[in-house]
Amino acid sequence: MIHVVWDWNGTLVDDLPIVVESVNVALAAIGEALIDEDDYREHFTRPVDQFYVRLLERPISDREWSTLDRVFHERYGESLDRVPLAADAIDAIDAVEARGWSQSILSMWWEKDLTACVERRGLTERMTLIQGNRDDAGGEKAAHLLLHLSELDVDAASVVMIGDSLDDAAAAGVVGTACVLYDGGSHHRSHLEDAGVPVTDTLMTAVSVAAQLER
Ligand SMILES: [Mg+2]
Repeated sequence: MIHVVWDWNGTLVDDLPIVVESVNVALAAIGEALIDEDDYREHFTRPVDQFYVRLLERPISDREWSTLDRVFHERYGESLDRVPLAADAIDAIDAVEARGWSQSILSMWWEKDLTACVERRGLTERMTLIQGNRDDAGGEKAAHLLLHLSELDVDAASVVMIGDSLDDAAAAGVVGTACVLYDGGSHHRSHLEDAGVPVTDTLMTAVSVAAQLER
């Protein structure tokens, strides 16, 4: 049996426009020029402070990072009600359940906000565990995935992570789980393909690909 670990932002929710809008409010707060979705996809990386270093092509001070992080989260939080689920998110969650698999959500977004957002969309009961970020602004996902699997008490070999970012694939690589990347917008597709895991256009296809990985 497979356990699917879903990423939230950019995977189950289609939040790229609001992410870019929130990055722009943050950039404006430190007096920098605005970007578009293409710039975001080209430069996005984790840890997130390195995204801004790549984007601005200069080091950022601790003070700037603190402003960027705070303003981004304030704006993103205010925009939550406008963030739609991905077009086939419910179908994909249904498909996982229909196969008799279990599923959970692991996000790098603040846990309190994540939990409320998942609840508002009626998905809480569908998930074995909903884990967000408790204390690690903008960090890497691997340590969070380890904690997630230990709280779930599942074996890494039975897990398929479905996410939209290179950090999802990197975390899966570190922890030893399978991974399917969904082209939800965080990176250009060619960058996703460099990660060496399957890349799909829809969440339903990601679930079908996960089935082929069942060991
Ligand atoms: Mg994501």
